[in-house]
Amino acid sequence: MKRFYCSCGAEIFFENTICFNCGKLVGIDIVGSEMFTLKTKGNGLLSATMGMNTRHYRFCKHRSPDTLGCNILVRENDPEEQCVSCRLTRIIPDQSIPRNVKRWRTLEEAKRRMVFNMHRNRLPYQTRTENPVSGLCFDFLEDRRSNPNVFEEIVYTGHSSGVITVNAAEADPEYRASMQEEMNERYRTTLGHFRHELGHYFWMTLIQGTKWERPFDVLFGDHRRDYDAALKEYYANGPAEDWVEHHISAYSSMHPLEDWAETWAHYLHMMDTLETAVSFGVVNVDIENGNFRDVIGKWVELTIIMNSLNRSVGKADAYPFVLSNEVYEKLTFIRNVILASRR
Ligand SMILES: [Zn+2]
Ligand SMILES: [Zn+2]
Ligand SMILES: [Zn+2]
Repeated sequence: MKRFYCSCGAEIFFENTICFNCGKLVGIDIVGSEMFTLKTKGNGLLSATMGMNTRHYRFCKHRSPDTLGCNILVRENDPEEQCVSCRLTRIIPDQSIPRNVKRWRTLEEAKRRMVFNMHRNRLPYQTRTENPVSGLCFDFLEDRRSNPNVFEEIVYTGHSSGVITVNAAEADPEYRASMQEEMNERYRTTLGHFRHELGHYFWMTLIQGTKWERPFDVLFGDHRRDYDAALKEYYANGPAEDWVEHHISAYSSMHPLEDWAETWAHYLHMMDTLETAVSFGVVNVDIENGNFRDVIGKWVELTIIMNSLNRSVGKADAYPFVLSNEVYEKLTFIRNVILASRR
């Protein structure tokens, strides 16, 4: 992600609602991929000046620190009360339980970053209101393992026809750590989940039934392969021994559609992290228009720095992945699909 600055010159961060240097209110315009200082106008309106232009906004309905502390702004002419990120959520876990207040907050924090990512990559999507059949929305559900009063025995995080379901317990660090251990994963974060599930949504909207479907099958494998059988096989016997040569993660080897979602999440992960590194002057590369081989070269350079920094403070590697040639081909395919979707 790029860096943002307050009108006083101090750096402001994506999660901030005020500038810690001058105390002025700050907010994010997701559609414009910008964050800036706000002036209050009385009547509930806010204004922000960028160069010669002044734009008017309202706060998201969930701006209050007692709810989500959401710092995304609603444009003046937008009839919705919730910002473009919050409005994508359809179901939240029971807020009369204090644990769930914190969970909703944690999930929305990660989701805001994902929504910013989605707009920054100019990915076309429809909300559930715009398209009730396959528009994008999020359901955050509890299951009986953490709340005996709910109907669902087990909630699996997943995607189906635009609906992304996330087990609310994924917001709990202890739950995530235990699942990471159980699934033998190298990396598990709420942001990673959102990016992965978003991948399934964009497979449906950008690949399925399009000219990309055949080249997808050649590169990732036949998407019609029996999914339930593949899932059973994976949990019974584990990943193929040589998965590192073909896939970005062990789970990727389960089914071509999971390979796509994992590699897609990885692409967003890489590009966002690279943009951060470029804006801090750690590496120098044109992420948007540069030759992809050069971009990947800089990425590998950056991951060596990231891992070395982590080791210096006694932490595990920040980037425990290997990019094989086949994975590189898959990432290139994803980049081409994203770039073509903008036209
Ligand atoms: Zn300031
Ligand atoms: Zn919001
Ligand atoms: Zn998946």
